[in-house]
Amino acid sequence: MKFETLAVHGAQQPDPSTGALITPIYQTSTFVFEDVGKTRGYDYSRTSNPTRKVLEDLISQLEGGKGACATATGMAAETTVACLLKQGDHVICGDDVYGGTYRLFDSVMRDLGVDCTFLRLDDRSRLGAAVRPNTRMIWLETPSNPLLNIVDLEMVAEVAGKHNLLTVADNTFATPYLLRPIDYGIDIVVHSTTKYLNGHCDVVGGAIVASTEELAEKVRYLTNAMGTPASPFDCWLVLRGIKTLAIRMRQQEATAAVIARYLKKHNRISRVYYPGLEDHPGHETAGRQMKGFGAVVSFEVKGGLEAVNSVLSKTGIFALAESLGGVDSLIEHPATMSHASMPEPARETIGIGPQLIRLSIGLEHVDDLIEDLEQALIGT
Ligand SMILES: *Cc1c(COP(=O)(O)O)cnc(C)c1O
Repeated sequence: MKFETLAVHGAQQPDPSTGALITPIYQTSTFVFEDVGKTRGYDYSRTSNPTRKVLEDLISQLEGGKGACATATGMAAETTVACLLKQGDHVICGDDVYGGTYRLFDSVMRDLGVDCTFLRLDDRSRLGAAVRPNTRMIWLETPSNPLLNIVDLEMVAEVAGKHNLLTVADNTFATPYLLRPIDYGIDIVVHSTTKYLNGHCDVVGGAIVASTEELAEKVRYLTNAMGTPASPFDCWLVLRGIKTLAIRMRQQEATAAVIARYLKKHNRISRVYYPGLEDHPGHETAGRQMKGFGAVVSFEVKGGLEAVNSVLSKTGIFALAESLGGVDSLIEHPATMSHASMPEPARETIGIGPQLIRLSIGLEHVDDLIEDLEQALIGT
């Protein structure tokens, strides 16, 4: 089955007890045993829930995995996967990852005795040189948030294979519609389903997809043991969202490409970050491993902070809000919003400056979005 068909029908059967076409919300904490020691496959919703199971099977199919866990948030997914590591282990993490991921490894995991090196993952020998005897994991994001850097997945998988390291890809920005990291040798995929998979800005959720049965079992064990799973209602909303993922991604990406070119020509803008632009350093790699370039566009405004604040406060259709990936277009300021959890020196080193603005392109008409940006940019 093609992606679009799988998104609608994958893992989803009419409900066996009623024939309901759409997967019901099994809003129950517990399940009655048929007899002592005998269940109908479910006993307690932290461990497993029928609504959640359908979402997990669907996401696993879309990513080409061997099993998945749906979690309460994207960070719950990441925390669960990070707990595959033990005290004394070392992880290499992309230097321009989501602010919350940076905080998880730089603060929470470090306090638990897991060391982390943040590194730009664009050079095979630099990556190889960063591997230590206790390195266990490479963690990456492609395209990265908010700079849209592209990581060559085959290169990372090759280095990891040589040193027997686990590889984790945060596939939130690309989604399995545009990129399937497991096809390139990545071991684990994580998602913030809050973003494109749900797509309607009405859920926070996450997912973990494992490339092998053995890893799926480990992650399932941790999700249950740590109590990180998603609620049945949130799973139901994400299931509903995924049905339109392909068509949303296609349209949002097409609009993003037009907006990136518009911004590139604008005299109030000094720099545009979008992997679909030919002069983006990751353009070729993205073209090779992805089916498209996504719908997040970042740019730098000329002038001081006043100019930045003026743009952020003057847009009307673009709402000033964190998050991305929904049908509503959003505008945000990484340095004070999505990446405020990253210390300023780290932000500056990797290029998240005060002039940087990030757009998440939604489903509104491109003409209206450009008009909105134009009136906000005038006079900055
Ligand atoms: C939002 C986001 C997360 C965190 O997900 P939550 O659902 O907010 O916990 C992780 N990674 C990326 C790339 C994100 O954009």
